[in-house]
Amino acid sequence: MNRKKIVAGNWKMNTTVQEGVRLAETLKNNMPALPAGVNVVLGVPYPHLVPVQSAVQGTSIAVAAQNCHQETAGAYTGEVSATMIAGAGISHVILGHSERRQYFGEENTMVSKKTEAALKAGLTVIFCIGEQLDARESNNQESVVADQLTALDILDAAQMQHIILAYEPVWAIGTGKTATATQAQEMHAFIRAELAKKFGNEVAAATSILYGGSCNAGNAAELFAQPDVDGGLIGGASLKAEDFIKIIEARMN
Ligand code: PEP
Repeated sequence: MNRKKIVAGNWKMNTTVQEGVRLAETLKNNMPALPAGVNVVLGVPYPHLVPVQSAVQGTSIAVAAQNCHQETAGAYTGEVSATMIAGAGISHVILGHSERRQYFGEENTMVSKKTEAALKAGLTVIFCIGEQLDARESNNQESVVADQLTALDILDAAQMQHIILAYEPVWAIGTGKTATATQAQEMHAFIRAELAKKFGNEVAAATSILYGGSCNAGNAAELFAQPDVDGGLIGGASLKAEDFIKIIEARMN
């Protein structure tokens, strides 16, 4: 089974629109040509979506929003719907990121509704899961991740074609503390086994599972060499073109 290899950047709440466009242009102009089966996605703030999409037009770089609302439209001041994002020509959305879960109270039920709305709008979802440090220290990481994966139970096998999973141990995000390649592989294999239970072996084998958490130019190759690690969701290192390109190159090998 040839799963897609994916390197996705998560710019979080960083860069002005001008800086973001410049970063996207630098990537476009300096990135190696992507072989078939290797995808690059840039997760950018809302105001950047359309200008960054224009900057990468004609390349195989895709653009992602970092969130969406679960309703299509209505009196939800300050919110942006999946329909609006898709209507702006954007193909992907990151959902369930631990920062959304932690700072904005996004629980499984809400993440599940957002996922359903995003798929209905035609977006591909980068669906984030991962345990906090206390769960890892008490060896409860699998039960936490299994619980987070129940948000996908409403989906069917066809919808799973538009889901990319991102395993991001919270203790590794922005901390400089990366999961070891063995820890990443063990969890990715566990996630794939859970997907097989829910959707069957074919879906499990076809779903890309990315690792995120202090992945950088120095450790990407070792993480990506693991059989169940299909790529990375990259925070800090995606803001530096040179580092991000090195991570993309690591995924092309
Ligand atoms: C992230 O925010 O998704 C992430 C993985 O961040 P970092 O690479 O900075 O740890």
